[in-house]
Amino acid sequence: MEKLKNIKGIIWDLDDTLYSVTPALHQSMRESVARAVVKMGYDINFDDALKLAEESQEKHRLTVKMLVDKFGIEKRDLHIPFHAEMDHTVTNACPDLPSAFRALPDVKHVLMTHASRDWAVRMLPHLGLEDFFEPHAIMGLEDVDFNHKHESDIVTKRSLEILETDPNETAFAEDRDWNLNIPHKMGLTTVLIDHPSQPKDLPMHVDYRFDKAVNFLKNI
Ligand SMILES: [Mg+2]
Repeated sequence: MEKLKNIKGIIWDLDDTLYSVTPALHQSMRESVARAVVKMGYDINFDDALKLAEESQEKHRLTVKMLVDKFGIEKRDLHIPFHAEMDHTVTNACPDLPSAFRALPDVKHVLMTHASRDWAVRMLPHLGLEDFFEPHAIMGLEDVDFNHKHESDIVTKRSLEILETDPNETAFAEDRDWNLNIPHKMGLTTVLIDHPSQPKDLPMHVDYRFDKAVNFLKNI
């Protein structure tokens, strides 16, 4: 754990990294996209939209795909309304995570989610973590012009500017290993918070793997 000794900043993912996504949240996501599409004025009622969201999840493992395809919706247009409908109260906070953050007063934090900033702003107090993130250090996909972490270095560059740390004193924590490729190339310490979708053998671009975020923090 040598590389964790000098960590001064952490770039966090949110979903499945700072908490675990539950079946209840998947249900909320299906209902959310159905509500959002109806509110946006597309020619479909809630029940039919929900059925399509369920079918889409089952066939493509993507809640929004079939509705997006059916109406030719731009994903950027759906992004904010969809996440606005999601119910953060159906998720479970990790009870020992706030104290693990508090135990590292000299470490700064940035949160970068592929969901919307509003979702992150609602989730952080629910997880008891709102004190550890400055408002400008909370970013959704819309804040980086819809550049995904696996496609662009903009997320890491923007986060380093906010943290005012060098790559070699910064960790990037994620539950999907492919999002750690670019941070690894840029010299950050990469931390995988494990998820059932992830490979058994640790990929070259992952420095450390932990079962949950709290155990990563305890090793700094
Ligand atoms: Mg995630």
